[in-house]
Formats: sequence, structure tokens, C-alpha cells
Amino acid sequence: MKSKILGDPSSVPPGVGEVNWSNDMRRKTQAGPSMRVGGHSGVGNWKPTTVAVHAGTYDDPVTGAVGTPIYQSSTFILGEEQYRAIDEGYARDRFIYTRYGNPSQWAVQEKLAALEGAESAIVFSSGMAAISATVISMLDKGGHVVASSELYGGTYNFFHHELPSLGFTVTYVDPRDLVQIEASIRPETMLLYFETLTNPLLKVVNVPALGDIAKRHGLRLVMDATFTTPLAMRVLEHGAHVVVHSCTKYLNGHSDLVAGVAMGARRFIDSIWPRLLAFGGSLDPHACFLLERGLKTLPLRMNAHQDGAKAIARYLAGHAKVKEVHYPGLEQHRDHKLACELLSNFGGMIAFSVGTDAAAQKLLDNLQLARQATSLGGVETLVSLPYNTSHAAFTSDQRTKLGIAPGCVRLSVGIEDAEDLIADLEQALCCI
Ligand SMILES: *Cc1c(COP(=O)(O)O)cnc(C)c1O
Repeated sequence: MKSKILGDPSSVPPGVGEVNWSNDMRRKTQAGPSMRVGGHSGVGNWKPTTVAVHAGTYDDPVTGAVGTPIYQSSTFILGEEQYRAIDEGYARDRFIYTRYGNPSQWAVQEKLAALEGAESAIVFSSGMAAISATVISMLDKGGHVVASSELYGGTYNFFHHELPSLGFTVTYVDPRDLVQIEASIRPETMLLYFETLTNPLLKVVNVPALGDIAKRHGLRLVMDATFTTPLAMRVLEHGAHVVVHSCTKYLNGHSDLVAGVAMGARRFIDSIWPRLLAFGGSLDPHACFLLERGLKTLPLRMNAHQDGAKAIARYLAGHAKVKEVHYPGLEQHRDHKLACELLSNFGGMIAFSVGTDAAAQKLLDNLQLARQATSLGGVETLVSLPYNTSHAAFTSDQRTKLGIAPGCVRLSVGIEDAEDLIADLEQALCCI
């Protein structure tokens, strides 16, 4: 395709391509890759709702169709410029082959980067593909990781089973114990890895304090911000070097695809890109289209998730059969103060306990509107029990130690009317 926008030599930013880019210092600061001349589109002072709609979205240059076309192509015509990109080492900035990059990927990457305030982004075929590629990129031979003891299960499995077999070591720490975190740092420590909110109890992790520790010890900080999204907190501004998300959750928001993203300074994302090529977790162009479409309503959905979750958390807190409610937006949540400082949106996740796992299972079976399924962040309310899903590998004693009480229920509040969801919970709680 010969167009002004799509990888045509005439759209190359001035200077780029005339020099060996790997020796060009500007490489360190250039945002992108982007189809726009001169890097990412300026989002200026746009508010997140505007950024979500417009950043990284490209009208079809041929037909004028509004919105980014789906470039369902595995490969791209090779010309002089593409050969030069391969030869001179800037293949990430040209279209060559879809595992390397595709216009549909670039478009959604640009939108994600604009929302996160990141220079660069790479989308992956799942959150785990993003996490594994990122973590491996941040480590060198013999490296040691200090990681949260309350990680997402897939991440824990990767850290516990894959990293040691590659010669890396991991120390697990209480994500809120800054003294323990700092004391776990060794001479060979290279990486701190944490999640912004823990699953399922929604403990709030002090990202600026972690950023400070990383800085003082010369370590890399990677944050999984899946539960908070770039709208509630931009972790890169608090000292994280790379942020990863499972786009499967809030970012896409419609429970209809699996995807992930890693974002940060261009030099870090450039170091992750070879792992995308090697491990092969690239995101299909059609999924990119769906993700880009989903992202356009992220700010609207997050407000709706928060409104619903606040109302439901308050309702649950006042219910006689509910023992405890964990929602960072509730005053009685032990991290409420920190949550107010760090988060501009408390999200849609709630954990609460009904006393026994049998009662909790009965509750789930009684629910008619909320669907019994794992995952989170979709428009539909989902409910699951840690004891037989995310934390099934733990004994009940181990769960209690983590603070997961018997009968713990995890609720991902969708965007339905809160009154309907409360009515559903009311009838379901009534007969457990
Ligand atoms: C779901 C999830 C992941 C994994 O993402 P996939 O898209 O399922 O691979 C990682 N971290 C957190 C916090 C998650 O909720």
C-alpha cells in the first residue's frame, strides 16, 4: 500500500533512516512506533475520555472510512526502506511481518501508550505473554527478583516454575511491608515485581514507595496494573519502569478477547520486543481492532464500574449475613487512606465473606444476574470463589493466613444498574 501514513519512505521522520539508527542517540527518546509522521500523535491537554476515543485511531487512508481498518495480513511488501530497516536495526519501526509489527497493533499500542503516558507499548496475545516477556527482559544471568507474595496465579506459576529453571531466583514478600521488601534486596537483585491491588482482597500497594526503593537501589520496578487501569493511576509517574496489563480485563472490557500489553520508556520496550519475536506472543489484528474499540469507552465504563461497586459494597457492608467487605473505596477498608491518595477510581472489584465456602457456593448458585465465571473487568458482573478458583492450590490455613476468610466471594461488578445487581444479591443472600 502506498500511502502517506503507512510505512511509506516519504513518511519517515526527518533524519531517521539517513543514519545507522542503533548509533543515533535520538533512538532513546523517540516515542512509538507510530504511523504518524514524527512519532505518536500529540494528545496535548486532552482529558482521558478524549484520549480514549481519538489517540492512535487512524481513519482508512484509502477510503476515508472512520476508524482504524483491520490489517488482517501476516506480511508486508518489502521495499528499499524495509530492507534498510532490517539492515540497520530499526525493524520495529517498519512493517515487515506481523509478529514484528502490524498497523492494527501499532494503532492500539498508540492509544494504550497515550492513556498510560508511556513513550512506547507492545501488545501481546495475553497478559501472561506480556508478563513473561517483560520479566525475562528485565533480568540478566543469575538475577534475583523481589516479588509480591500475593501475585496473580499465572504470574506466580511463571515465577515459581519457569524462572528458577532459567537460573533466576525469587524472594516473595508482603507487598505492603516496605521494610521487608528493602531487607530482601541482595547484591544480585535486579527487579521488583508487584501488582497495584492484590487479588482478591484489594490491598493497596504503595507504588511511589516502591519506586523510591527501586531508585535508591538501582533496580527495575515492573508493576502489573490490571486491577487499576491507567485511568485510576499512572504507575510510570510513580517510578515504575514498565507497566504490564492484562487487556483481557478492564482495558478491553467486554470479555471477548485475551490480550496483554507492556508499556514504558522506549528503551525498555525496545528491550522487550526481541522477546515478543522469540516467544511469539503477538496479538492478532482482529483482536487489536476489538481492543481498540473497547478502549474507546474505558473511561465511561470505569466510572460505571466504580459507581456500581460503591453502591454494592455499601449494601453488602450493611447486610447481616456478610461478615466482611473489602473495597478500597469503603472507609473501613484498611488501605482506604492510601487508596484515596493514589487512586482516582476505586474500580469494580469487591471481595466479601459469607462465613463458609459452602454458603458462598450456595450464594453463587442462587445468583441469577451475576454470572459464575473467573476473569474480571467486563461489562457483565462476574462472581467467583477464591477457594475453588484462583486460590485452589492453597490449603484453607494458607488462605486464612493471606487474609482470605472462609466463604470469601470475589465480585467483579459490571456496568449493569446497581439496583438490579443489589436485588439479585438480596434474593441470593436471603436463602444461603
Ligand atoms: C488476568 C490477569 C493476568 C493474566 O492475563 P491473561 O490475559 O489472562 O493472560 C495477569 N495479571 C492479573 C492481575 C490478572 O488479573
